[in-house]
Amino acid sequence: MSPADNEIRIRGLAIGARPRTDWTLDEVKALFELPLFDLLYAAQWVHRQHFDPNAVQCSTLLSIKTGACPEDCAYCPQSIRFDTGIETHDLMPLDEVRKAAERAKAAGATRFCMGASYRGPKDWQLEPILEMVREVKAIGLETCVTLGLLREGQAERLAEAGLDYYNHNLDTSEAFYPKIITTRTFADRLETLRRVRAAGIKVCCGGILGLGESREDRISLLHVLATLDPHPESVPINRLVRIPGTPLENATELDSFEFVRTIAAARVLMPASHVRLSAGRTEFSEEMQALCLLAGANSMFYGEKLLTTANPSTADDDALFARLGLVRESAPVRDESRSAVAT
Ligand code: SF4
Repeated sequence: MSPADNEIRIRGLAIGARPRTDWTLDEVKALFELPLFDLLYAAQWVHRQHFDPNAVQCSTLLSIKTGACPEDCAYCPQSIRFDTGIETHDLMPLDEVRKAAERAKAAGATRFCMGASYRGPKDWQLEPILEMVREVKAIGLETCVTLGLLREGQAERLAEAGLDYYNHNLDTSEAFYPKIITTRTFADRLETLRRVRAAGIKVCCGGILGLGESREDRISLLHVLATLDPHPESVPINRLVRIPGTPLENATELDSFEFVRTIAAARVLMPASHVRLSAGRTEFSEEMQALCLLAGANSMFYGEKLLTTANPSTADDDALFARLGLVRESAPVRDESRSAVAT
C-alpha cells in the first residue's frame, strides 16, 4: 500500500492521504470545525504522508513594479485609490532583478517570485518580464510571477520563457469578495487560473484571512481551492497586515487559533501542495509560527520584504530554523518533461 492509499478516521471523518478534488462543502465544514487538536493531528498525519515534516520550502519575493495600481483591493497599499505613502517605482531594470535573484539564491531560496502592480500586463509590458523570467531561470532558481489578470496568449508566452509558477490568489470567498474588491470579479480570477493551468504553468493560489470575513467564508474559500482540479501546487495563506490608509486599516485582528485552524484544514484538503505561511508573519510570535508549521505549513517567504510590507529578517528565520531543527527544502530536480518549453 502506498502512502497515498492510507486513511485515518477522526470523529467519523475519513481523512485520506491521496489528494482529492471532490470535497463537498459539508465535508470541508466538518473538517474545519473539528476540535483543534484533532485537526492538528490529522494535518500532521497527512503532512507526513507527502513531505519531510522538518523541511520548509523558501521563496523570495521581489516587487519589480510597485504602486500606482488601478485596482481597489481593500487590503493593498499599492492601489492608486488609497493614500498609503508607499514608495512607488516603475518596472525595475533587468540587471537589478538579476542581482536580487542571485542574492536570494546565495541566501538559500529555491524560488524567486516577482510581483508587479498591474491590473494585468499589456502585451508590451509583458516583454521585459519574459526576459526577467529567462534570466532568473538561468541562475538556477524556480521562477514565479504575480502580474494580475492574464489575457489570452500571455500564459503561453510566460510558459515559453520558462515560468514555473503563476501566483494569483482568490483572496476570500466568492460571497465576501465584492466587499474587498470591486474592479475585478471572482470569476475573472478563476479564468486567469484556468489560463495558467492550460499553459502548463504550476499554480500558486491562496487567500488572505482577517479581512472581516466569517468562518463560513474561510470554509468556502478552502472549498473552492480544494476543488480546483488539480490542486494549486502552492497555497499561500496570508493574515491581513493592516496598512494605514487602506480601507482595512482598522480591521479586527483574526484570532490566531482560527488562522492555525485554516492552515491545518488546507493541509488536510490539499495533501500534496505546499502550504505557505505568507504575509502577517512579522506579527506572529515564534511560537505561533512553530504552531503554523506543525499544522502543516511547509513553505515561507524568506527575505526582509514582501512586496511592500515587512517580513522577518533572514537572521531571525535562520535562528528559528535552528531552534526547531528545520532545514530548507532543496531545489526540486529539474523536470525534463517540461524543459522543451522551460528553457
Ligand atoms: S493586490 Fe495587486 S491588483 Fe490589488 S491593488 Fe494591490 S497590486 Fe493592485
